[in-house]
Amino acid sequence: GAGATHVFVVFGASGDLAKKKIYPTLWFLFRDGLLPPKTSFIGYARSNIKIEDIQKQTEPFMKVKDTEADKVKQFWKINQYISGNYDKASDFSRLNKAIEEKGSANRVFYLALPPSVYESVTLNLKATCMSKGDKWTRVVIEKPFGHDLDSSNQLSNHLSSLFKEDEIYRIDHYLGKEMVQNLMVLRFGNRIFSPIWNRDSISSVVISFKEPIGTQGRGGYFDEFGIVRDVMQNHLLQILTLVAMEKPPSTAAEDIRNEKVKVLKSIPHIKLEDTVIGQYVGNPEGKGEEKQGYLDDPTVPKGSVTPTFATAVMFVKNERWDGVPFILRCGKALNERKAEVRIQFRDVPGDIFSSGVVKRNELVIRVQPNEAVYMKMMAKTPGMSFDCEETELDLTYGSRYKGVNMPDAYERLILDVFCGSQIHFVRSDELFEAWRIFTPLLHQMEKEKPKPIPYIFGSRGPKESDDLCRKYNFIYTGTYKWTSP
Ligand code: NAP
Ligand code: NAP
Repeated sequence: GAGATHVFVVFGASGDLAKKKIYPTLWFLFRDGLLPPKTSFIGYARSNIKIEDIQKQTEPFMKVKDTEADKVKQFWKINQYISGNYDKASDFSRLNKAIEEKGSANRVFYLALPPSVYESVTLNLKATCMSKGDKWTRVVIEKPFGHDLDSSNQLSNHLSSLFKEDEIYRIDHYLGKEMVQNLMVLRFGNRIFSPIWNRDSISSVVISFKEPIGTQGRGGYFDEFGIVRDVMQNHLLQILTLVAMEKPPSTAAEDIRNEKVKVLKSIPHIKLEDTVIGQYVGNPEGKGEEKQGYLDDPTVPKGSVTPTFATAVMFVKNERWDGVPFILRCGKALNERKAEVRIQFRDVPGDIFSSGVVKRNELVIRVQPNEAVYMKMMAKTPGMSFDCEETELDLTYGSRYKGVNMPDAYERLILDVFCGSQIHFVRSDELFEAWRIFTPLLHQMEKEKPKPIPYIFGSRGPKESDDLCRKYNFIYTGTYKWTSP
């Protein structure tokens, strides 16, 4: 027929996420011809604006080339905007009518909205806007999925009373990153790693997220959550499950998600004494924002003890991992931007070289920036000498795969929603287990209000974090030297 095959609705179309991520991503997918033919888009929000206003505020993020002027015109031609409330049935009827006018189509509803309106929006969707006949409906939601086990369960129960699990797409955009998706292939596609991927060979696993910026005057929102909820409980724990899970029977979404849940079920609550929390203070010698500490952000409540840095040690109590510390580390206002997985191996038994020369192997999977996988290893010092030294086997994506386009996480994930692939989305029971692991710690911190350790903007974070890592089998020697080839 002449009608659309797919309609993609952006709730909160006037907002920040829509402008910076959703619309640009839809444009990239459209530009590259990756969307199903005859897809059209509807923005929905309360603001009394026009699609031209959305177009204007989105443009700076769309990276449109001069040669793409026609294409981008076509893109905006299949976009429309509807102004409506999030709790008014008649407004949703108008939305439904607008969708129906496009013909019988599959429907994606993307909630780029604050969680306070998730309930009313989903209730109205279910009542008024579901597709009919053989067409499907999928609902995409963004974190935060609650703030502890109870609130998250409440949201999950609400969603599952309206939609089937295969209609719910919970975004954790870390699952859309190249190197996170690569973990499965590295682990299960290589004989060289599988026999050593366990407690016999691995001394510790460090999963890090570091950001060189502070709250940039928007700390008010962050303060309600803190770094543990914002980064560790979701992004870092998701990476942990992919590092630790057993081999699934197939690459089907449910097979993979079953294995991820099993890992989470084997992780006991985190103990407060196995954590270090920090909060950044300004660096008087720094430039610009670096002078400002967290508490200097006027939107942050006075005397807040919300952590902007956290390290926590977790254990997976199963046959493969018992006793191996998984150290999750994340922070704002640090010395660099980086996300990585670092697997440190045990000492070589029966060392025959002069004592202390042989250092532990490390396998590092750098998620961002500059994707890379490198194995730190020992080799003979080249030349006449018979000494040995640290070096690396290095797979740097930028040099090995020159010119290969690395799609952004949102591009992969939104395309997955169209394709109905739930591999890289968080299932309800995964979310339940993730909150079970973290909630006692979070509640204890809220009750006892331990004071975070101050660290200077632009530093590596509190030294107590390095002490905790050392205590839990991560040995830093400082001897490894890297020269970029
Ligand atoms: P936002 O800009 O604050 O809100 C999106 C839209 O929702 C606003 O334009 C506004 O539209 C409406 N809205 C805002 N506050 C509301 C309220 N109290 N009641 C009813 N409607 C309200 O939020 P966002 O930054 O785009 O984030 C959307 C969702 O994505 C949130 O759940 C957020 O946690 C998540 N998220 C955002 C980012 C990001 O980079 N921004 C990253 C990861 C996750 P109208 O007033 O026009 O209705
Ligand atoms: P490294 O410098 O030996 O650091 C290893 C780990 O020790 C890091 O997690 C680091 O923490 C931590 N650390 C640093 N100083 C410490 C201290 N004083 N006390 C306790 N722990 C400390 O090795 P690397 O980070 O693997 O490599 C060094 C540099 O070479 C990095 O910049 C890396 O990106 C680069 N390199 C690049 C490639 C590539 O592009 N393909 C390959 C190999 C190496 P932090 O995470 O906080 O720094």
